[in-house]
Amino acid sequence: MILTKRKVLCQELLDEIRAQAAPAYKHGKVADYIPELSRMSPEYFSLSCQCIHGEAVETGDTSRRFTMQSISKVLSLSFALERLGARVVFKYMGTEPSADSFNSLMRLEIASPKPSNPFMNAGAIAICALLYKEYGDSAFDELASYAGGIIGAVPTYDERVCESEKATADRNRSLAYFMKSVGTLRGDVSCFLDLYFKQCSITCTTLELAKIGALFASGGRLASNGERYIKEKTAHTVLGLMTTCGLYNGSGEFAVRVGVPGKSGVGGGILAAVPGRMGAAVFSPPLDSKGNSVAGMNALEALSDELDFRNTRDE
Ligand code: GLN
Repeated sequence: MILTKRKVLCQELLDEIRAQAAPAYKHGKVADYIPELSRMSPEYFSLSCQCIHGEAVETGDTSRRFTMQSISKVLSLSFALERLGARVVFKYMGTEPSADSFNSLMRLEIASPKPSNPFMNAGAIAICALLYKEYGDSAFDELASYAGGIIGAVPTYDERVCESEKATADRNRSLAYFMKSVGTLRGDVSCFLDLYFKQCSITCTTLELAKIGALFASGGRLASNGERYIKEKTAHTVLGLMTTCGLYNGSGEFAVRVGVPGKSGVGGGILAAVPGRMGAAVFSPPLDSKGNSVAGMNALEALSDELDFRNTRDE
């Protein structure tokens, strides 16, 4: 018999990973281009795992709430796919990684007026335009209620972070108005941007993010009761895009080091979905030069190694 080298998910393992990974926060920098984000302590750290059949284990500052930032894009994308359908969504954006930073303008002008994918800011703003067209001023409430079904409580957004982003969002405004100028977007761009700022400011804990990860990891079922919540096809589409585009120009590094679909946010969170097994989420605010949490990436790498997320060891 070949003995498994895979460790089991338990409190000791997560505590150990936290002790090893958390100090790396010193090598990153908390985002300050949205001024309100810079008020977060660089030393916060939490790590949560939510298995697809219900068990959850976590460590660190697990009650600390932070803003999802770009992690919210998995919610708006899956919500748009469910309610509007893939054909509508991908009429306005592609499914290719771009190797550019998350708020890059360049490709829209030189390659195609359609954003490369829904996780680039341009693509996420275009999703907001589609949702706004469908739901008008209640679009945010519809999205929050959809998120609430996954995490067990309807989330709210942090008004200070939202206002702070709104006051400094010249780059995102440029993306939106450029898309309007070339006909990719139509209508009142400021409404789409407001929805985008609100969704980025949705607050969460790592356990709530891990529940979202578990939804995709299970092909669309809720970890709380196993009920189907979204179509399997939607989950697969989101997982595919997380694999190739979830950490922007750091997606290749994440694929090599962690090896499963992931999505990061400049608030310091990273969400990972381990197909058929669990959602895992980590929070540590200091970021690398690409906007991804330094200690968070280290922790998920260690978790992946210990629990063999790639499933390549003999059982
Ligand atoms: N709200 C942020 C922005 O648009 C989200 C970016 C991110 O988390 N990568 O700049």
